[in-house]
Amino acid sequence: MSNILEVVNKCTGCGLCSFVCPKHCIQLNERASDHFKYPEINSDECINCGLCLKSCPTLKEFKIGKSDAYCYQMQPISDLLKSSSGGAFQAIAKYFLLNNGVVYGAAWDNLKVHHIRIDNVVNLDKVLKSKYIQSEINTRVYEEIKVDVENGTNVLFSGTPCQCAAVANMFVKRPSNLFLIDIICRGISNQWAFDQSIKAVESFLDCKIKDFDFRHNQGANKNNKLFKFEFEKRSKTKVCYGEYDYFPYYKMFQSGKGYRESCYNCQFRSKNRASDITLGDFWGFKKDSFHKSLIIANTSKGSEILQNVFNHLDLVDYDSTTKLNKGYYGNPSSRSLAEIKRFGEISIIQNELESYKKQKEKIKVKNLFKRLLNVFKHNKYEIGFTYKIKKIK
Ligand SMILES: Cc1cc2nc3c(=O)[nH]c(=O)nc-3n(C[C@H](O)[C@H](O)[C@H](O)COP(=O)(O)OP(=O)(O)OC[C@H]3O[C@@H](n4cnc5c(N)ncnc54)[C@H](O)[C@@H]3O)c2cc1C
Ligand code: SF4
Ligand code: SF4
Ligand code: SF4
Repeated sequence: MSNILEVVNKCTGCGLCSFVCPKHCIQLNERASDHFKYPEINSDECINCGLCLKSCPTLKEFKIGKSDAYCYQMQPISDLLKSSSGGAFQAIAKYFLLNNGVVYGAAWDNLKVHHIRIDNVVNLDKVLKSKYIQSEINTRVYEEIKVDVENGTNVLFSGTPCQCAAVANMFVKRPSNLFLIDIICRGISNQWAFDQSIKAVESFLDCKIKDFDFRHNQGANKNNKLFKFEFEKRSKTKVCYGEYDYFPYYKMFQSGKGYRESCYNCQFRSKNRASDITLGDFWGFKKDSFHKSLIIANTSKGSEILQNVFNHLDLVDYDSTTKLNKGYYGNPSSRSLAEIKRFGEISIIQNELESYKKQKEKIKVKNLFKRLLNVFKHNKYEIGFTYKIKKIK
């Protein structure tokens, strides 16, 4: 390969090529066909140094040495509910922050998702929970990671497997103070489609949406595909809860049809990863509806972190637990550009919202029963807990 643009559909949009370019002549811009960001080069400035190609994680193979799998659930439940899964990331990140380390993770900022650096446990909540939108890592963040690592600070970076591969590729030799955690990832959709969804819902409800939570835990919903958002309407703040298929973007994400092209033939989602630890949902448990984390130590460094953070972890069988988790190995089946493009037409999304409204009453009764059963089964909740099952009205 002679040019970074030849990476084309394998490109994950990590932005590392832009960071390493000594002439600052690579920019990541949104591609009109699918609204994901891809690199563009100002060839007048390029000196053909080849650094961009050398850094691109798609052109490197990663090998790991271990695959020890564990099951974990954070306690107390009030802390667990701050996370999307079993809270393993929360526990590990807290350990780093309380021991003078820094943590990088995906955070919301005004309904946009991007990676941030935190150095204090009071800000930990910002990087908790799954945001099902491709998180942007800008060059400033890469620069911060580099400075932290060079200063000898313990750095915990968390992201998708391809993002961890990019951060690993920043360095010729993996620094001993850089720790990488990736998530089990079956694909990612884009900020543009989410923004379009928000616009459509705002105009439908005549409101301003203030925040969004993809995996709202209230009610210990094991499937955990309940969204929640707060909105302002006529100077009053209200909350809306719903199942994932009542929010157009979330429905598209769950369908697996609107991911980035690279997600359909992902080279990072395999047993060989760049990370020290992989985190995901632990499926296959029956008695307890609260989430559990699947933790996989990929390296000895990963095992060491786990030993430092946790007093005890339940060792589980790697083969059978990963087999249950489709996001660990398998690629999503098919991509539909039409699925993404329809977000360009707000009226199409609004028709979809209109159709939800018609189904509302039927769904309300069905879910009410399901939810009440959940609350009844898990009476650990505080008195006064009420399960709101408001659909989009
Ligand atoms: C896009 C996406 C797809 C996923 N698909 C699966 C799956 O198919 N199967 C499965 O078992 N688990 C999947 N997960 C992982 C799972 O949802 C939990 O994020 C993971 O188990 C960690 O949970 P936790 O409770 O330990 O941490 P939490 O407190 O929930 O922390 C979330 C962690 O995820 C990172 N994160 C959140 N959003 C993003 C993002 N947009 N980009 C990069 N990093 C992000 C944060 O930096 C943080 O480290 C997915 C997560 C994401 C973000
Ligand atoms: S070859 Fe060198 S100068 Fe040209 S785009 Fe790549 S990194 Fe930049
Ligand atoms: S994968 Fe990352 S480094 Fe490679 S071309 Fe795409 S943005 Fe650049
Ligand atoms: S599926 Fe692969 S390419 Fe897509 S976001 Fe996840 S790790 Fe990156």
